[in-house]
Amino acid sequence: MPLLETFSPSRAADNIPVPAIAHVSARKFRALPRPTLDWNDEVAREAAHLYERIKTVVPSVEWPFFAPYVQAINALKKERDAVILAHNYQTPEIFHCVADFVGDSLQLAREAAKTNAGVIVQCGVHFMAETAKILNPDKVVLIPDSRAGCSLASSITGDDVRLLRERFPGVPVVTYVNTSAEVKAESDICCTSSNAVQVVESLGADTVIFLPDEYLARYVAAQTSVKIIAWKGHCEVHERFTADELRRYRADDPDIQIIAHPECPPDVLAEADFTGSTAHMIDWVREKHPRRVVMVTECSMADNVQAELPDIAFVRPCNLCPHMKRITLPKILDSLLSMQEEVVVDPTVAAKARRAVERMIHLKS
Ligand code: SF4
Repeated sequence: MPLLETFSPSRAADNIPVPAIAHVSARKFRALPRPTLDWNDEVAREAAHLYERIKTVVPSVEWPFFAPYVQAINALKKERDAVILAHNYQTPEIFHCVADFVGDSLQLAREAAKTNAGVIVQCGVHFMAETAKILNPDKVVLIPDSRAGCSLASSITGDDVRLLRERFPGVPVVTYVNTSAEVKAESDICCTSSNAVQVVESLGADTVIFLPDEYLARYVAAQTSVKIIAWKGHCEVHERFTADELRRYRADDPDIQIIAHPECPPDVLAEADFTGSTAHMIDWVREKHPRRVVMVTECSMADNVQAELPDIAFVRPCNLCPHMKRITLPKILDSLLSMQEEVVVDPTVAAKARRAVERMIHLKS
């Protein structure tokens, strides 16, 4: 089913301010002194089992810099009663060495909903930290760098959703989790790239408004008979891939497997052997165990899977997300020491957004 209509953002995404960060609940925590971050025999010995996890993707010459931070962060997590959630696009030393839970947006949202820890440190981008806060209004949610935004999240505002509702009265709104709390609050239900088709079909409507990723909307429209009204938001990382570069990989090695994220343009997806969310891509590689694979998504994910499956050859068309890469070990440590930057969401907005997120989480898979 083709898209019914596609609407364009009414402003440059760069003009939209980063959502609110404040320092409210975190004030009850005292700042802690910075630990020594020396590389010595004791640190080397105690952190050796962690280096084992990443030795195929992190050169040994870099480990003496990372290891003292890893040790300090893991000790501080206990002191702060904190858990670290890390998205699949985080770098291997974060993903494999300090994270308590890893995954795609849906998996992280589910972990955020279940955790008993008093503090959540979100190693991902701002909308993910907002989602954790929406689901945990009584907990302190920290993001190590609040400038970690997202081109999709900043492509649309709550006003835009209200205007679309006026134009299409009665048509339900499905919103990708890559949006601000304000946009989620205006939505009927959220989705991720793992469950977008299922969410759209769960509504029992013949038409839905699907926001804000145009390419994910096109992908969903191709999988369902539900008519889709879309928005022209794009992921600045996935839209850079081209069909030509994938054809070149295949021409060089006809047996290569190409797996792609549905935020890529349709002509790129047409070249792929498999399309799926980051979680589905990882599952596919674990199950199929290809000899050689191209992961058409943010390039840290291939490093993270390579660390787990060293015998598979990963081809990395290295498109980095500059927002994800704002999160680093030194910033995570600073965040736990100072308990900043705390994510706050207006309680009224959070209550409305929670309905949309929880409706997605509780959808039977
Ligand atoms: S990879 Fe794309 S969708 Fe994901 S956070 Fe970066 S800009 Fe947003």
